[in-house]
Amino acid sequence: MGAPQKYFESTNPGRITSRLTTDSAAIDSAVAGILRHFFNAAFTVLIVMGFMLMMNPWLTMIVLATIPLTAFLSIISYRKLRVFSSEESDRWANLSSVSNEIFGSVKIIRAFCSEAPFLKRIQVRSEALRYEGIHHWTIIQTIGSLLALLSSLGADIFLFVGGVLAIQGKITFGEFFAFSAYQGMLWGPINTLMTTGQSIQTGTAAAGKVNELLAVEQEPYLAREPAPPGQPFVGEIRAQEMCFSYDGNEDVLRGIDLQLKPGTMTALVGQSGSGKTTFANLLLGLYLPTRGKLLIDGTDVRQWDLRQLRSRIGTVLQESVLFDDTVKGNLCLGRDDFTDEQCWAALRSAHLEDAIRNLPEGLATQVGMGGGRLSGGQRQRVAIARVFLRDPKLLILDEATSALDSETEKAIQRSFDALMVGRTSVVIAHRLSTVFRADQIVVLHQGRVVEVGTHEELVAREDGHYRQLFLAQVEGMVPMSGPTRKPWSK
Ligand code: ADP
Repeated sequence: MGAPQKYFESTNPGRITSRLTTDSAAIDSAVAGILRHFFNAAFTVLIVMGFMLMMNPWLTMIVLATIPLTAFLSIISYRKLRVFSSEESDRWANLSSVSNEIFGSVKIIRAFCSEAPFLKRIQVRSEALRYEGIHHWTIIQTIGSLLALLSSLGADIFLFVGGVLAIQGKITFGEFFAFSAYQGMLWGPINTLMTTGQSIQTGTAAAGKVNELLAVEQEPYLAREPAPPGQPFVGEIRAQEMCFSYDGNEDVLRGIDLQLKPGTMTALVGQSGSGKTTFANLLLGLYLPTRGKLLIDGTDVRQWDLRQLRSRIGTVLQESVLFDDTVKGNLCLGRDDFTDEQCWAALRSAHLEDAIRNLPEGLATQVGMGGGRLSGGQRQRVAIARVFLRDPKLLILDEATSALDSETEKAIQRSFDALMVGRTSVVIAHRLSTVFRADQIVVLHQGRVVEVGTHEELVAREDGHYRQLFLAQVEGMVPMSGPTRKPWSK
């Protein structure tokens, strides 16, 4: 069994940023170097050498005596430079990813007085970059100085040998001065060719890194034709002997057989790590089943055009993700086909209309980084309104585990209830009130479905998993489910 095909890899954002900035800048300077200097210099060298060869081939050989050694040293320097550039690019990416993570979490670092150790992490990486950079550039610059020495040595050799030949009358002084002028015109462009060669090496190494990123397999919807409009989507889900493994060795979902009927609500419960989020990942097509089948509206998830599938699924996570944009921008998420009226209607359904109307600029109010200008409960309801706006038939909801004040919790519960009407919903449930209302409860334990039924059926089973979870919740020890990851977190 091979590792499963992943359609979404939560790659380190710092690394990607570095590839997009530092590496593409190196490619840019290599291309600019080629266009601006390389052809110009190469043309001058060819013309000047052509004239010199026509005038006196032997004297030309003397002028170019140091060229073989120069070429040899250049090749060595270019090879080293390509390796160094590739290593340096990795170290930049490393530093950038750590800095991104740390600067993005300044509040928590300060709250735990952990500034020093985190600063140390940045320091260690930037020092590594500095020291190795100095080491590498010392080698490259030494070779560079040798190359410069060789070019002036070439000029000196010509002046000496050419001077002696002119004094001895073996060449005319006219030839000597003409050659002096020619060779003066030659070394400048040769040096330009060598420096352009260096930036070409750096650019080639950077292009390799950018290519690694581009070679990451794209999601299959890019290659798949959207299905022609057929029966209306109802959000029926069937899993048949479905297994899934993240690493290709250990199954985290095992032999799942389930049916979720259209328009019903299914509550997933189970301890942390039992596979609830993984199941949600599979519904969204973020991963594909390793064995068995997952049918959505009768079509295997492998056959679905994923963009089409996801446009029919609404997702609300425990922690809502809001962007530094306006309320409307956060509702539409880049789509420009929603009107203000539709946005207000979605906010109304999510019980957030009044709060947003009271903001100074209504829908145009900026919510700040991560939605920081809104309260936790409001952020959650913006996420719910986002789903209302798209009106999907299938919902994946992950209830918040963090304690919200009872008013906010009631408001969110009302929004969730309104959202679920007439849709198939899969709720990763943490609250008793949710499981009580579910049409069916699916209990996951170590990746297997161990019980399916309503609350009344399951609670009646002596020694059942559900009964244990229920009793623990009633005694106030733990929620119905342990905390879960975001569906797209690694
Ligand atoms: P739950 O949502 O019930 O807490 P998860 O679906 O998150 O459970 O996890 C199920 C199992 O899969 C756990 O053992 C977890 O460690 C493992 N797991 C989750 N995500 C990954 C991943 N990206 N790579 C490898 N293993 C993972």
